[in-house]
Amino acid sequence: MAGIYIHIPFCKQACSYCDFHFSTSFEKYKTRMVSAICKEIVTRKSYLEGEALQSIYFGGGTPSVLEAEEIQEILSTITANFQIHENREITLEANPDDITPEKLSQWKAAGVNRLSIGVQSFRQEDLDWMNRAHNVTEAKRALELAAELGFELSIDVIYGLPNFNTEDFKQNLEQVLAYSPEHLSAYCLTIEEKTALHKAVEQGKIVPSNNEAQSEQFDFLVDFLKSKGYEQYEISNFARDEKYAVHNSNYWKGKKYLGVGPSAHSFNGTSRSWNVANNAVYMKAVENETDYNELERLSVYDQFNEALLVGLRTKWGVDKNRLNVELRNNDEFKANIANFIDQGYMIETPEVYLLTQKGRLKADGIASDLFILAD
Ligand code: SF4
Repeated sequence: MAGIYIHIPFCKQACSYCDFHFSTSFEKYKTRMVSAICKEIVTRKSYLEGEALQSIYFGGGTPSVLEAEEIQEILSTITANFQIHENREITLEANPDDITPEKLSQWKAAGVNRLSIGVQSFRQEDLDWMNRAHNVTEAKRALELAAELGFELSIDVIYGLPNFNTEDFKQNLEQVLAYSPEHLSAYCLTIEEKTALHKAVEQGKIVPSNNEAQSEQFDFLVDFLKSKGYEQYEISNFARDEKYAVHNSNYWKGKKYLGVGPSAHSFNGTSRSWNVANNAVYMKAVENETDYNELERLSVYDQFNEALLVGLRTKWGVDKNRLNVELRNNDEFKANIANFIDQGYMIETPEVYLLTQKGRLKADGIASDLFILAD
């Protein structure tokens, strides 16, 4: 089973912390962009070698800035060119200020069955500070409407902001849980280069939150959600009743996916490719049928290290079948694994390597300590 990701590279305004690829000129270019995306879908229909789609994911940017007819057009193009599994997950990332009863009904009619809503915080001062386009009232209304229409719901929240403590986070999470979302993604604020936030920090206008405060909020998050019946199945992702995100879980399990749209990445097991992160260049190249992506063939070392990096972040761990046998039997690798097991960070079963709760706090560091580099 495979997945398809559609990158919609438009947003109403730039959030201060965001380094994703997007442009705010969507009114002028979105019709042309949707046509280019549909053309790319047709052009690359063989990429997944006939595997049925288990997930379709509209991400961005902000897919909800498109008209419902444009979402429908992209979905119809996918349906006409790929086999779709009957239990597919079709997710649309939506911002609260775009959600109306009409749009929700149209998305539903088009086949969207899951919404990932970028709420981020229920404190207006946080939304203002992040330069989000929506306000708290819009967030509450959007969640009520989405729940009424029976969408599976995922809610995004951010923690680790300056002037934000664990009590603030608790109040945010309590409000999130009032809508009983099936799924929750919680990300710690990071200061990425080339963002307004990075500039403000460099100019000394903002002092970032410290590691201790962020760790305290992460520990609280994990314990609090567990006490409310949410399982942490990946470092930043939580689900109730096993409603794991099919699309993201497939990334972590190393399944194939095709990414369309500017800046989108694709993976077919042995190579990775990425589209140019420039809207004008992308549209022109697709229209003129010239190159718009680069490809990297993954060596056995790359595949081995990547399986560790993504697999160790999840509750399923790394399937040993995904790891090259020769590299897995490397003496240094085995000694490192034994060391992490002794320290209580890791568990090994006949099938998988798995992190303990203590290990999950250091997942990326442990993975990189286990990497094997080419001679
Ligand atoms: S809406 Fe999302 S993609 Fe757009 S600027 Fe904000 S965080 Fe980035």
